[in-house]
Amino acid sequence: MQVAKRLQNLPPYLFARIEKKIAEAREKGVDIISLGIGDPDRPTPSHIIEELVKEAQNPENHRYPTSEGLVAFRQAVAEWYEKRYGVKLDPKSEVVTLIGSKEGIAHISFCYVDPGDINLVPDPGYPVYGIGTLLAGGEVYTLPLKEENGYLPDLTAVPSDVARRAKLMFLNYPNNPTGAVADRRFFEEAVEFARQYDVLICHDAAYNEITFDGYRAPSFFEVPGAKEVGIEFNSLSKPFNMTGWRIGWACGRADAIEALARIKSNIDSGVFQAIQYAGIAALKGSMDSVAEVCRIYQERRDILVEGLNSMGWRLNKPKATFYVWAPVPQGYTSESFAEMVLERAGVIVTPGNGYGTFGEGYFRMALTIDKERIREALERLRRVLGQVEF
Ligand SMILES: *Cc1c(COP(=O)(O)O)cnc(C)c1O
Repeated sequence: MQVAKRLQNLPPYLFARIEKKIAEAREKGVDIISLGIGDPDRPTPSHIIEELVKEAQNPENHRYPTSEGLVAFRQAVAEWYEKRYGVKLDPKSEVVTLIGSKEGIAHISFCYVDPGDINLVPDPGYPVYGIGTLLAGGEVYTLPLKEENGYLPDLTAVPSDVARRAKLMFLNYPNNPTGAVADRRFFEEAVEFARQYDVLICHDAAYNEITFDGYRAPSFFEVPGAKEVGIEFNSLSKPFNMTGWRIGWACGRADAIEALARIKSNIDSGVFQAIQYAGIAALKGSMDSVAEVCRIYQERRDILVEGLNSMGWRLNKPKATFYVWAPVPQGYTSESFAEMVLERAGVIVTPGNGYGTFGEGYFRMALTIDKERIREALERLRRVLGQVEF
């Protein structure tokens, strides 16, 4: 039996393809160093695990949770936003728990997009923005992120007829895959655009806590008026090494949060309550572990960027995220470079075109492996590439 067109028309999920390549190489006995997938390698801090274990024993948590999440969890999110960003949120109407922020990012299009509607989607970008749009029957209008613009979209370049048809605009700073950051001025411009064209801004703040060199990433809501035009997706996955736990949230504009909760109540039954209690422990507990993971990623970033620069790259060190985004050397495409380093060096990098057409000519490396392995990867690249030119 044939699957539906909406499924046939999807590109294979990028990371599923990479996982397959890794498995094939490992089967041949090759020692693979993967800089491919951004998934924290360190364990979840123990005070969070202990809370899960305790709450897992409580039979009250064995029943269906509510799809919008425990009030206590949403309250913890609101308190954390106030403390961290000075942003006030009403826990009941302005926060919804998600099964990881990816779930909400995929579902928000189902709340607002009818066939023929447009979403504005950054390119290169996290694939789920565009895929959610397509699954809902919408059209993607690409916002190119270019190096010369600091990987910020040029909103003045969006034609006004497109802007008027647009429902959602996805933004993501600190940015995956480029590592770029946005300042409040850009967020102000985005709020202005959203007001003018009645577009809902969906800001993905997954990397707001993964920052270096004293840089502090702003919430979209630090800008006046932002909460009237947007929502922010956020997650425990990256700061607390909790990607496997599947817990995040969306917050902000109340009618959008209500719409997301309504879709969810028809599809899922929320997050295991013991996990939400563990999430409360994360948000209310010490942030020392977050500072520690940032220190570790920063050290790895320095080793990787300095190593690549000694081979001829001219990279700036990213201020945030655990990614390094780099151009491929002369004579390569994103794919041919990724294939070459896998075959000849046993190193996995992610081809930039997997994040959109404007990612062509780049590749991404994740800092989620041990520094000794990063050094080893650099050694292998040096042996294969020597000095590179662009
Ligand atoms: C990791 C990531 C997420 C989602 O993580 P969840 O585990 O689903 O909360 C969202 N956006 C970006 C850009 C990411 O890299």
